Amino acid sequence: MFTQMETAGIAENHLYHDHATGLRAIIAIHSTRLGPAIGGCRFIPYDHESDAIADAMRLAKGMSYKAALAGLPHGGGKSVIIKPEGAMDRTALMQAFGRFIDTLQGRYITAMDSGTLTSDMDAIATSTPWVTCTTTFGDPGPFTARGVVRGMMAAVEHKLGTPTLAGMHVAIQGLGNVGMAVAQLLHQHGARLTVTDINPALVASAASRFGAATVMPDAIYSVAADIFCPCGLGGVLNPTTIDALNVSVVAGSANNQLTSTAAGEQLHDKGILYAPDYVINAGGLIYVALKHTHTPQEAISAQTDAIQETLSALFADAETAGQAPFLIADAKAEQVIAKGLATEPTRAFA
Ligand code: NAD
Repeated sequence: MFTQMETAGIAENHLYHDHATGLRAIIAIHSTRLGPAIGGCRFIPYDHESDAIADAMRLAKGMSYKAALAGLPHGGGKSVIIKPEGAMDRTALMQAFGRFIDTLQGRYITAMDSGTLTSDMDAIATSTPWVTCTTTFGDPGPFTARGVVRGMMAAVEHKLGTPTLAGMHVAIQGLGNVGMAVAQLLHQHGARLTVTDINPALVASAASRFGAATVMPDAIYSVAADIFCPCGLGGVLNPTTIDALNVSVVAGSANNQLTSTAAGEQLHDKGILYAPDYVINAGGLIYVALKHTHTPQEAISAQTDAIQETLSALFADAETAGQAPFLIADAKAEQVIAKGLATEPTRAFA
């Protein structure tokens, strides 16, 4: 366990079992150097308890990096509730999870992730104030989309020398909460769209609302376009898909897009500008973190829009260093965390 924690850079790993509800949960905290750790809670079944612990640990560091480069006064954490087989009292389970979070006295703030809903966050909120993404806060997806489009602007300006998305051809993979909102914003900017999803109804909707061309899911990688925008699952950038790509920029919301460091290098060697996922998709985290501190909406929008400047600076630094931007992003995030100060603009945690 300690070797695993060392490898994942995890500072704290908390395990909790509630006898009354049967709750089995893990909270992994990567860092609290910049402020309370923040990160979503997964609620999915696992074959082995060790897989659940590994999942929480694997994902916590990325949250630290995301918060650091988004200028948030937060560290990174992640939690997992092992989904029980069969019948359960979901509300009681979430309330018990809230009591677990409360024992950490604000060192970890939870949010939605795979398998959790805003109604779960509401149940958690009856036991602890250290929760965001509740129903009153609403869906962070539109803010994630807003940040992605801002990030695309930075990328096309750097790579193609134009600050506008008008006339750009964007291939979007996945038309869920974020992908559909990205499609809508791009349509408003005058971009041309080619879209795909495994859900045909979503594809039909984008075609009729935005005049998007459509392709089958496997064909999206080889669409000749300016930008590939992955907004579906993670792990989509591997040697085979990168080989097929026929774009200048990859900029999308999906988490953990690269299957390996080598895949990131392959993109760079191919001359494709890749906007690091955790930088470009930070709008949702910015939204839920700042909502939790009752920050006004205009300030949340401004901090989301700042993703454009963050990425512009990152691309410029990467060019100067002759390195891929994802490597520079990791190094910058580590520097920010080591200094113990969030990048500007910073906000006090209330
Ligand atoms: P979602 O579940 O609402 O949408 C995902 C969409 O991708 C679905 O419509 C699904 O049918 C589609 N899809 C799945 N596999 C596909 C495939 N092989 N080919 C084409 N389409 C496929 O999720 P979301 O909230 O829109 O998030 C999208 C991605 O962005 C996820 O990777 C998520 O982790 C990441 N992300 C989301 C947020 C947020 O605010 N929701 C924030 C940061 C990162």
